[in-house]
Amino acid sequence: MANDQATEQGTISIHTENIFPIIKKWLYSEKEIFLRELVSNAVDAIHKMQHVNLVEGLQKADDYRVDVMLDKDKRTLTVKDNGIGMTADEIRRYINQIAFSSAEEFVQKFKNLEDKSQIIGHFGLGFYSAFMVAKKVEIRSLSYQEGAAGAHWSCDGSTAYALTEISREERGTEVILTLDEGEVEFLDPAHVRQVLTRYCNFLPVAIYLEGTVVNDQNPLWTRLATELSDDDYKAFYRKLYPFSDDPLFWIHLNIDFPFNLKGILYFPRLTTEFDVTKSHIKLFCNQVFVSDNCAELIPEFLTPLQGCLDAPDLPLNVSRSYLQNDPQVRKIREVIISRVAGKLVELDKLDREAFSAIWADIHTFIKFGMMRDDKFYEKLKEHTLFAVSGSESWTTLPEYLENSTAAKATTVYYTNDEVAQATYLKLFKAQGLDVLVLDTQIDSHFIQFLEMKNSEVHFARVDADVTENLIQQDASSKLVDGEDGKTRDERIAELFKQALKDEKLEVRVERLKDESVPAMALFSEQDRRFQEMTRTLGKQISLPDKGPSLMINAASPVVQNILDLQARQKFADADLLIAQVYDLAMLTCRAFDQERMARFLERSNQILARVNVEVADKE
Ligand code: ADP
Repeated sequence: MANDQATEQGTISIHTENIFPIIKKWLYSEKEIFLRELVSNAVDAIHKMQHVNLVEGLQKADDYRVDVMLDKDKRTLTVKDNGIGMTADEIRRYINQIAFSSAEEFVQKFKNLEDKSQIIGHFGLGFYSAFMVAKKVEIRSLSYQEGAAGAHWSCDGSTAYALTEISREERGTEVILTLDEGEVEFLDPAHVRQVLTRYCNFLPVAIYLEGTVVNDQNPLWTRLATELSDDDYKAFYRKLYPFSDDPLFWIHLNIDFPFNLKGILYFPRLTTEFDVTKSHIKLFCNQVFVSDNCAELIPEFLTPLQGCLDAPDLPLNVSRSYLQNDPQVRKIREVIISRVAGKLVELDKLDREAFSAIWADIHTFIKFGMMRDDKFYEKLKEHTLFAVSGSESWTTLPEYLENSTAAKATTVYYTNDEVAQATYLKLFKAQGLDVLVLDTQIDSHFIQFLEMKNSEVHFARVDADVTENLIQQDASSKLVDGEDGKTRDERIAELFKQALKDEKLEVRVERLKDESVPAMALFSEQDRRFQEMTRTLGKQISLPDKGPSLMINAASPVVQNILDLQARQKFADADLLIAQVYDLAMLTCRAFDQERMARFLERSNQILARVNVEVADKE
């Protein structure tokens, strides 16, 4: 190389000839990131300058800034900073050698990568990415060092460059791109502003485009939580997601040790069209936007979270699968889980009423999270809310068990359909027993999970069995009261069985405290769950569908009426009533087919007609 000449001509030391076309093609989809790279280099150079000033105690209050300038006539885009600058020698070292060797490494890595889209935007292509849009790139720079000479570097996209001394007064660097014919959009201020807003919106140095600052240099996450109001957080949320409703709550992360992590995580109001397949968190690295899909950092069950994370220590220039297993990434995930759990506990402790008001929006992810992550479960098990049927109040599992007046205080009664199970709920309510509402899709899994976690606790749907609390403790109906050697209950059971002519039907008789219900259908909790499970597993396994059993209330006047009719040998009337009592019991839990519905309606009308006759008879 001829260093004694005014202009140094040289060849960039790389082995891959014509690396540029390859890179242009590969990075085509996101070539606008060149702007991010150049602007962040400019910001870095300013940081270095600030650092030097600090170390040398210069205390210079410079007006640090980055300018992005467009010149339509010359077809140039320039990124200019007043940072540390480069000497010709530094350009040789940092641009010619380092930049190009890292580019070569990039090509090597890229060749072996299966999913090429993974790496785009993550590899520190840096300065070199300018060649994605430029046919010529120039650097004009003046180092901060005393007596430094200005330097001009120029390269047309081949492996040859030119380096020459220039006279320059201003400290800092200008990178001038003469754009390719096809890249005129980067001369359009509106487009450039859009790109800068995307990638450089929160950079810590003022970025000017056509004389106005485009960025917010102190984004909320860099500030102290103590000096921010709810309105600040909401306003920042609107800035990130312009057309969204206010978020439900948020978490401000500000961690220095054992790693650096800052950010604000928002929990949005969930809408059905919410896309849960990818993360909605914007990832930054020292305020430079990196990606809005950082699924690795967010556990699956927290996918609805929005907001931003600034994780400067993350190795961003590696593949996604590597990131998955990175211990740092795992730690970040754990911190996020723990902070979200902490926030939820805090919300519940602070104001149960306000917490219950957002419960409908958040319960699915909390339940899902508890099933997925044991630490999350442990933190939230006492703060998982359940609505109590027929009341405005909410309870937790420990509270429910503690306050339970049920005979078996380890049974949790629940309903999954307050309308269909209204009869049962009425009976429970009359006995002062609380019933939890567990009527969403995740609940049946969650019930199983809670039983697994609390082996002594058992969940029973209100129609699973009649609890001891509902039954009169008077044993008289169990006594033999006739010549036939049978108890009254046995006679009732037999009567129903004969009249209903259903071999498989299980009939049992109890004396309920509530007399108004003649009979109820009961599904054993276990059988029902098993059936539900086989149903979700698909139709392949066809087990005989075990129907509900029939529980007859011996305390009901209707049942007494049936016994009386029988005694008076009015067999047809007794059978009519039995069939009707049976259908009424089943109606609450089973959809009738057309034929059965027709029979039920016909019989109902028959009974109605009979009432008229009897009323008329009496008159
Ligand atoms: P990286 O930024 O990842 O180190 P780059 O290819 O972007 O890689 O830049 C290579 C080096 O060139 C930088 O590390 C820096 O030393 C130097 N450099 C690039 N741009 C500037 C600038 N605007 N001012 C001063 N130095 C710069």
